[in-house]
Amino acid sequence: MVNLDLKPLSLPGLELKRPIIISGPCSAETEEQTLDTAKQLAANGVKIFRAGIWKPRTRPGAFEGVGTVGLPWLKRVKEETGMFVGVEVATAHHVYEAIKHGIDLLWIGARTSANPFAVQEVADALKGVDIPVLVKNPVNPDLELWIGAIERISQAGIKQLAAIHRGFSAFEKSEYRNHPQWQIPIELRRRIPNLPIITDPSHITGKRDLIYDVAQEAMDLNFDGLIIESHICPEKAWSDAAQQLTPADLKVMLDKLVLRRAAIGDTPRNELDDLRKKIDQIDAKLLEIFKERMMISEQIGKYKYDNNITILQTRRYDEVMKDRINKAQKYGLGEEFVNKMFETIHEESIHRQSLVMNKELAKKEK
Ligand code: PEP
Ligand code: MN
Repeated sequence: MVNLDLKPLSLPGLELKRPIIISGPCSAETEEQTLDTAKQLAANGVKIFRAGIWKPRTRPGAFEGVGTVGLPWLKRVKEETGMFVGVEVATAHHVYEAIKHGIDLLWIGARTSANPFAVQEVADALKGVDIPVLVKNPVNPDLELWIGAIERISQAGIKQLAAIHRGFSAFEKSEYRNHPQWQIPIELRRRIPNLPIITDPSHITGKRDLIYDVAQEAMDLNFDGLIIESHICPEKAWSDAAQQLTPADLKVMLDKLVLRRAAIGDTPRNELDDLRKKIDQIDAKLLEIFKERMMISEQIGKYKYDNNITILQTRRYDEVMKDRINKAQKYGLGEEFVNKMFETIHEESIHRQSLVMNKELAKKEK
């Protein structure tokens, strides 16, 4: 267990009930877009507004945020809607500017959490400040690094702390932009039980259609809130267009959420639920891996067709089987199981290859 000196998140005059909802555009683009989005969100009951002012982009050339000129726009959001406003900070300069402009809460982005020097710089700049600071998980699935970032901010004297779970990047393509790896925030909860966890379904999914399921999952896990991107006109957004919801769609989504745990009290999720969750995730990964394997089989089918090679290469098949059984033994997996599994996989693989060959043949005959 990690002991941190925490106090509940608070914003003057706002009762922060579960689920805490934070919403707003990925980026503040223009004063008009920021204000219009904020007004619609406020009309739909959102009390805390987010907008990126400084945008850390993975590749150069993308929109990097409007910078300090956007901060007065957020001040207008506060004055005209009564919402509280939050921005992402990654440097000491960002912290000073945000505080100077009356920003109510700050978050540290995933790329920053992955860098202890940057987190320390932000922590040092936060000394003497008493506002909520939310720490996103680092881009890589490293719980210690996440906890380390939270500790650095805590050691700077920040007591209103929360974690944002925004998923973890992986080399393989998957249905998610960033894989949720729920076991990591679940473990974070075990290690720091009184630290609120807010899930960010927008950056996990990367696609608006998937947001509801991830948000519901976070509620089923008894997490404390959601940060969801919303834009007045998502298709025209300058960043993260595919994952933003209109304020109206956000409201429909939030109204659909079922807060089961809240209804039956704060009972912690039991161990069986957590283990089943892990199984669900592993099965999802297995399916992705099978899909990838079959795509490669199809490429092999095409190669064999182009080079006049027969589909079944018995020597290769024998070698593969021997190798897989050997490897599986080291993991304590039985020979019969591994045999059956690879026979099935191989059969499907051959089937895919012959489909490709037949298709190529049909093309040629036309
Ligand atoms: C964001 O919240 O817009 C953002 C850049 O998120 P992340 O740090 O999770 O990528
Ligand atoms: Mn974004």
